[in-house]
Amino acid sequence: MKICSLSSGSKGNSLFIESEHTRVLVDIGLSARQITQRLQSVSVEADSIDAIVLTHSHNDHISGAGVFSRQNGTPIYGHPETLDDLLRYLRGREPLVPWENTFQIKDLRFTPFRVSHDAFPTVGYLISDGSKTIAVCTDTGCVTPEIEEHLAQAGFIVLESNHDPDMLMDGPYPWDLKERIASRVGHLSNRDAGSLLQRLLNGRIEKVLLAHLSDENNTPQLARDTVLELVGARYEDLIDVVGQKIVSPVYRF
Ligand SMILES: [Zn+2]
Ligand SMILES: [Zn+2]
Repeated sequence: MKICSLSSGSKGNSLFIESEHTRVLVDIGLSARQITQRLQSVSVEADSIDAIVLTHSHNDHISGAGVFSRQNGTPIYGHPETLDDLLRYLRGREPLVPWENTFQIKDLRFTPFRVSHDAFPTVGYLISDGSKTIAVCTDTGCVTPEIEEHLAQAGFIVLESNHDPDMLMDGPYPWDLKERIASRVGHLSNRDAGSLLQRLLNGRIEKVLLAHLSDENNTPQLARDTVLELVGARYEDLIDVVGQKIVSPVYRF
């Protein structure tokens, strides 16, 4: 499979995943024009995308969905309530595919699992082509047993490492926003991401992308250092950070 982060962070998220027969975007939180350009930069045409799969209805995950779907006829998959929230971006001619549980898009199988966030519902996904499994888990204020069980099944993990708690508390955000981010239904700290990975890394996981970093309350270096401190320097080659402005390398897995 191929994996490429087109954008990751509070100003917009979109992850491109390709298997032998299928191309999907997990979330589409930039404009359709920006997503089309970023796909072109990795030699993928927008109209070759088979589906958009949404994790939840916050703007930074859905804002490009309507226009992209209308331009390319791309079906949008999501929990029924996520698709209801999305209606404000739609004109009524976009193909919507509500899921209730595990679902299949061509040769890719999607298993949603609940995460702990303040949009209801918010999910992560296990995405499998039958031989390999990718886990996508961002926008969660804490690590639950359900999250840990699912991530333990993956060989490639995209995991939120949103903030450093000290930078958040000393930073410029108003108090209620600080509280929201730090809460159990907010965003995952570097340290919480690191201690989860400490329990998960066991030789079977080939790659971890630290994702959804805060621009204000984190730096790529700090996220990576904090996680490596917990998991051990021997995992240095395994941990990468993806960001807001730059399209990541295309990872093969
Ligand atoms: Zn988000
Ligand atoms: Zn969110």
